[in-house]
Amino acid sequence: MSVVLRKHTRQVRIGDVVVGGGAPIVVQSMTNTDTADARATAQQVHDLARAGSELVRITVNTAEAAAQVARIREDLARRDCAVPLVGDFHFNGHRLLSQYPECAEALAKYRINPGNVGKGSKRDEQFATMIEMACKYAKPVRIGVNWGSLDQELLARLMDENSARAQPLAANAVMREALVVSALESAAQAEKWGLPADSIVLSCKVSGVQDLISVYRELAARCEYPLHLGLTEAGMGSKGIVASTAALAVLLQEGIGDTIRISLTPEPGGERTREVVVAQEILQTMGLRSFAPLVISCPGCGRTTSTYFQELAASIQAYLREQMPLWREQFPGVEDMHVAVMGCVVNGPGESKQSNIGISLPGSGERPVAPVFVDGEKTVTLKGETIARDFQNIVDAYVRSHYGAGAASATAAKKSATLPLKSAV
Ligand code: SF4
Repeated sequence: MSVVLRKHTRQVRIGDVVVGGGAPIVVQSMTNTDTADARATAQQVHDLARAGSELVRITVNTAEAAAQVARIREDLARRDCAVPLVGDFHFNGHRLLSQYPECAEALAKYRINPGNVGKGSKRDEQFATMIEMACKYAKPVRIGVNWGSLDQELLARLMDENSARAQPLAANAVMREALVVSALESAAQAEKWGLPADSIVLSCKVSGVQDLISVYRELAARCEYPLHLGLTEAGMGSKGIVASTAALAVLLQEGIGDTIRISLTPEPGGERTREVVVAQEILQTMGLRSFAPLVISCPGCGRTTSTYFQELAASIQAYLREQMPLWREQFPGVEDMHVAVMGCVVNGPGESKQSNIGISLPGSGERPVAPVFVDGEKTVTLKGETIARDFQNIVDAYVRSHYGAGAASATAAKKSATLPLKSAV
C-alpha cells in the first residue's frame, strides 16, 4: 500500500483529541436534535460517539440551548462518554458565550462562521467577543466558512478588486478566493486578538466537488492551520456518499485534511450514525486508518442461486460493527481484520485465502457446502441450516485468539512450544 504523505499542519488539542500535525485523521459528526432537549441530544451524542465519532458538534443557537450544554456534558459523564463537544455558533454566539459561562466551559471547541458573526461595524466587535471567550476558557476555535453564508462585504470587496484587473477572473473563481480569504483573514484577526495559532482549525465548505478540491488545495498551500474537511450539503443516500467520497478522496490522497465530517441528509427514519460509518469507511478503504473489520464480498452474478450469500455478508457486517464498541477495548488490532463472504467457487476460495477468514458459499450446480478458510488454510466445510451461525462462531473464536490478551497468550504458548528442550525443562 502506498503511503500518503500528509501536509504539515500545526497540532490543535480539542479535549483529549489531537487534530493536525500528522495525528491520525479525526472523524467527527454533528447532532440534529434540538440542543434545548438535553436528554435527546445527550442520547444522540452518545450514539454518535459509540459509532466512532471522535468529536461531536451540537447547535448552540438559543439561550435555552446554551443553558442545557453543561447538562448534556453531565449526562454524558454519567454514561462514561468523554467525547469532546463542539458548539456551533451563528449570529448570537458572542452573547450566548458571554451570558452562559457554564456552556462556554463545557464545550471543548467553538465553531465560528465568519459570515454569520455580524454585519458592518458590529462584525469585528462580536467576533472579538467570541475570540475573547475562547481565550478566557482556553478553547480552540474552528473558523468555519461556508459558501451558503459567505461574508457578503468581503465578497463585494473582492469582486470590486477583480473588476479593476486588466484580466478579471471568472465570478466563480472570485467566490472561491473569497472563501479562502475569509478563513485566512479571520484567523489572522483571531491571532491578533490573542488566540494562539495552535488553537485554530480552518474549514471552507462548498457543495460542489471540483470547487471543494480547488478551495482546499489553495487553503492548504497558504496556511499551516489544521483543516477540517467536508463537502457541505452533500445530499441524501448514494449521491451524498459518492459526492463526499469523490471530493475527500482526492484531497486526502494529496495529504490535505486533518479531520473530516460527512454531511449526509439522513433518509426518513435513517440513522444519524450513518455519517460516522461513511467517514470511517472512506478513511479505511483508503488505507489511512482502521476502525472496524472489513467485509469483502462479491457482487453476485448468474452463478449465485439465492440471496443467501448477500444475507450472510450483511449479517456478518452488522455483527462486526455491533461488536466494535466492546472489541475496540478488548481486542485491539481487530479493526484490521478482513473477512470474505463469497458467492461461488470461481473467486471464493482465492479471495477467502487472502483474508483472515473467508467463506465460499455454493454457487449454482455446486455441492451445497461452504468451505471456510482461516489465515489462508481451509479449516472446515460448513453445510445445512446453521452455516451463518457457525461462521459467526468461527469469526468470534478467531477474534478471541488473535487479538488482545488472546493474541498475547497464543504468542507466549507458541514461543514456549518452540523453546529448545534444554531451556524448556
Ligand atoms: S465469486 Fe462467483 S458468485 Fe461471486 S461474482 Fe464471482 S462468479 Fe459470481
